[in-house]
Amino acid sequence: QWMTRNDFYAQGDDVASGDCFILCLAEHTPRTSINLLLEMRSNIETRHCAILVAAIEDATHSAMDALDLGANDVLLTSFSAQEVEHRITAQIQHKKTNDRLRESVQAGLDAALNDPLTGLYNRRYAMTHLNHCVENARDGRSDLAVILVDLDHFKVINDTYGHTVGDTVLVNVAQRLKEAVRASDMIARIGGEEFMILLVDTPPAIAQTLADRLCRVIASTVLPDIAHPITASMGLRSFLPQAQDTSPQELFNQADTALYQAKSNGRNQVAAFIPTSMIAPTVTVQRS
Ligand code: GH3
Ligand code: MG
Ligand code: MG
Repeated sequence: QWMTRNDFYAQGDDVASGDCFILCLAEHTPRTSINLLLEMRSNIETRHCAILVAAIEDATHSAMDALDLGANDVLLTSFSAQEVEHRITAQIQHKKTNDRLRESVQAGLDAALNDPLTGLYNRRYAMTHLNHCVENARDGRSDLAVILVDLDHFKVINDTYGHTVGDTVLVNVAQRLKEAVRASDMIARIGGEEFMILLVDTPPAIAQTLADRLCRVIASTVLPDIAHPITASMGLRSFLPQAQDTSPQELFNQADTALYQAKSNGRNQVAAFIPTSMIAPTVTVQRS
């Protein structure tokens, strides 16, 4: 299918359907084709297409430039139909092999970072991200909040309705949590029925309000055929970098301590960890 530069752009997103393009390079207008080549290489839809450059009217010199700028192959002045066919086939095969390779690398990356059941980030990603967020909070002197979420009596749900229904509950809870936080916040599934949420640039009072809201969001879950209430307990640790020098692991542990507190306070609630440095000293009055 032959087209002009304008036809090419008129195709919009459909250009991605092409595996191989041949760019005709004429000596009197080499920049037009070279610019198109550069645009195709930077466009996400056509970045990985095979691009052959056919140098017509003795545009050999510009064809060499095209190779440097990302063309896969060049066809110089005298080329037979058979040769063109051979080169196109080779480039398409090459492109398809690369597509498969890229897909498997992407699948590997996704598996390394994502939880397959809920699609949320996994524990490994969450812990790495926590380190980055603590560093950024220190550099930018911005507030950060860590929330750990653990579903209440989840074992009962599994035991009563079966593991498959338990999985459905986990997917549903993950979805609701995700919808309730901002796009800039990170949410991960860090254990069986445990989640971690990182709220960047969020002062303690706002983090507390959000955690309370998340608690209500989960408690309002209604799923067909599940009579057992679905609730969660949450531990909140707000981090003010200008006031504290706490390591990411300590923050995590302190959020976990708060979570434990929320469980022992009766579940379906949020408990916040208050660092001892922020508790006003108690005054004991000695009477003689
Ligand atoms: P608590 O309120 O103290 O947190 O009680 P709990 O029952 O939620 O806590 P416990 O740690 O005793 O049980 C967690 C349960 O989560 C046990 C396990 O079978 C279940 N679980 C862990 N991972 C999965 C999963 O991937 N799918 C399902 N369906 N269940 C899971
Ligand atoms: Mg648990
Ligand atoms: Mg639990």
